[in-house]
Amino acid sequence: MNQFQGLPNRKTSLTGHTDEGDEIWIIRSISQKFYKCLGCKGEINIGDEHVVVQYVGKYGGTEHSHWHQRCAEEILFYQVRGMRKVSSKESSRDRLESRGRRPAGRRRRPR
Ligand SMILES: [Zn+2]
Repeated sequence: MNQFQGLPNRKTSLTGHTDEGDEIWIIRSISQKFYKCLGCKGEINIGDEHVVVQYVGKYGGTEHSHWHQRCAEEILFYQVRGMRKVSSKESSRDRLESRGRRPAGRRRRPR
């Protein structure tokens, strides 16, 4: 787990899979709205550095939620299979949405 401490950051995102085979992307973000953390239900205020968790479904489609970095580390990281670091360029919103338009078998593996 320690190799992922303090991640994601501006340069590095994390990715892996759920038990069901959906992709999980864990991305650093600055909030532009008020959010509730899915982990602790606490507040994420405008301007706060936090974590966006984006799911790309096995059969397509995307879904995201907002987390405190620490809540993601303490709760979410344990649910991710095969977690690895990727360049944050791989996890831009456009790229993930376009991944969500293809079923998993037809996606390129992120580097
Ligand atoms: Zn939280």
